[in-house]
Amino acid sequence: MNNPSSASRPVRMVIFGRQGAGKGTQCVRLVEHFGVVHISTGDMLRGAVAAGTEMGKAAKAVMDVGDLVSDEIILGIVRERLAEGDCRTRGFVLDGFPRTIAQAEGLVMILGEDELHAVVDLDVPLDEVTARMKARGRDDDTDEGIARRLELYEKETRPVLDWFADRDLLVTVDGLGSETDITDRLLSAIATAVAR
Ligand code: ADP
Repeated sequence: MNNPSSASRPVRMVIFGRQGAGKGTQCVRLVEHFGVVHISTGDMLRGAVAAGTEMGKAAKAVMDVGDLVSDEIILGIVRERLAEGDCRTRGFVLDGFPRTIAQAEGLVMILGEDELHAVVDLDVPLDEVTARMKARGRDDDTDEGIARRLELYEKETRPVLDWFADRDLLVTVDGLGSETDITDRLLSAIATAVAR
């Protein structure tokens, strides 16, 4: 409890951005700065795959081809995670969720009265993220997998960004530049949103 921002007011935020936009890297910095819990549905799913749970086995086949795991499964794991004490006391940054309108609606139900303070879109152009992912080489970073995930991002997740923009919650941050420059931009955008 030596982080004043987390002790006084737990910050609740969502970070959007195409695959390969650098959300994971920036989330580490947001955790350091705000003392929040990092909730990455992709990491949680990869954890379930590695642990060999039934859910992990079912999710693996879907993830390997770059499709989306069902809203029901995703909402189940997010609901359980957000109910834990650390999320209540420290706040959180959601990364890779919500990815569909159904997930966004589910999130609102889960949070109830607890509103989100900031919703940020880390914006990196398509050609740049494609090049980055090809260089990264994760299991699902095949040419087909990359194309499929980016296609689903436009089709399923872009409407979620519009949904938050309609509610005046969305802030777009330029995701090109040095890691520290991007962090500075993110921190100032989030500080402005939190102060509103
Ligand atoms: P990326 O952003 O590169 O797709 P993630 O780690 O966020 O990487 O997700 C990896 C995979 O996990 C996705 O391709 C998808 O199959 C699954 N996944 C993660 N989050 C969600 C979500 N919110 N809804 C549905 N599927 C998800």
